[in-house]
Amino acid sequence: MSGGSGIVILGIFAADTAYTAKRMPHIAETLLGSDFKLGPGGKGSNQAIAAAKAGGKVTFISRIGNDPFGEMALSAYASAGVKANVMRMDGVSTGAAFIFVNEDNGDNAIIVAPGAAGLIGIEDVDANRAEIENAAIFMTQLEQPLDAATHALGIARRAGVTTVFNPAPAQTVPDEIYALCDYVVPNEVEVAHIVGHPVETDEQARAAGDILLQKGTGCAIITLGARGALYHAPGRSELIPAFSAGKVVDTTGAGDAFLGGFAAALSQGQEPAAAVRFGCATAAIAVTRPGTAPAMPLRSEIDDLLR
Ligand code: ATP
Repeated sequence: MSGGSGIVILGIFAADTAYTAKRMPHIAETLLGSDFKLGPGGKGSNQAIAAAKAGGKVTFISRIGNDPFGEMALSAYASAGVKANVMRMDGVSTGAAFIFVNEDNGDNAIIVAPGAAGLIGIEDVDANRAEIENAAIFMTQLEQPLDAATHALGIARRAGVTTVFNPAPAQTVPDEIYALCDYVVPNEVEVAHIVGHPVETDEQARAAGDILLQKGTGCAIITLGARGALYHAPGRSELIPAFSAGKVVDTTGAGDAFLGGFAAALSQGQEPAAAVRFGCATAAIAVTRPGTAPAMPLRSEIDDLLR
């Protein structure tokens, strides 16, 4: 076990451009929307901001361009208290995401263009090796190139750092990556992609959790949207219900809020099932607000909901 208390996160920043409308347009159709919002996003970046606001000591490793979206990223890290180990690159744009938000129920659909963050490689990980080795928790996802994520998980694992892997967005990766992870945290769509069968019921989620454990993961945590999250470890499987913190207005970034809250709680010594509960509370507040990073709650708000 490493001696640190910090959380190091590798991932991408993408400026979220969120369009609200009654439905998605068809090809060759133009629709009038009812709202537009611009804000900081990207799974890894959102998770870093969520974890810092939830009380974690967070370092974020990424790349951005030398442009206004890059400035947006740096100011988001400054205001959330995230240490930004972020390389600024000329001649390539900062990541950006198109987000459709359904105005009736808050459901979303997303296209991400990672830009500079698509060039993250093992050299970015090596430049941050000491920080990773001295962390309590290392966390990553699948928006940046896979070789960087695998390399970093390996370094963290060999140093005894707790590893958290969010296999999102869904894509096929070598099974060896799961054996490097103390926690693998997919949603229902992502875990269905990994195990090759639909995951819609609690029973299917448990069966999928068993497959992740067989692949060598220490513990599977499957997020189940408004139903909560399944904590599935060898010898213990528990469905932790979602919280309600008010009217749901935008579920974009719910998974990132969960992961940030979970990592923050784990880094402060909470036992894993309690950290899952803390993650659920973090996400329950985030879904009552528009946007992703700006929707992440403060520690005091999460504690109030858990009281
Ligand atoms: P997204 O892709 O929108 O960021 P996700 O699909 O990765 O989210 P979900 O499984 O939908 O992740 O949600 C993550 C967690 O957020 C859930 O485990 C749950 O705790 C919480 N959550 C999601 N939706 C709601 C909701 N409507 N009300 C309360 N909590 C919710």
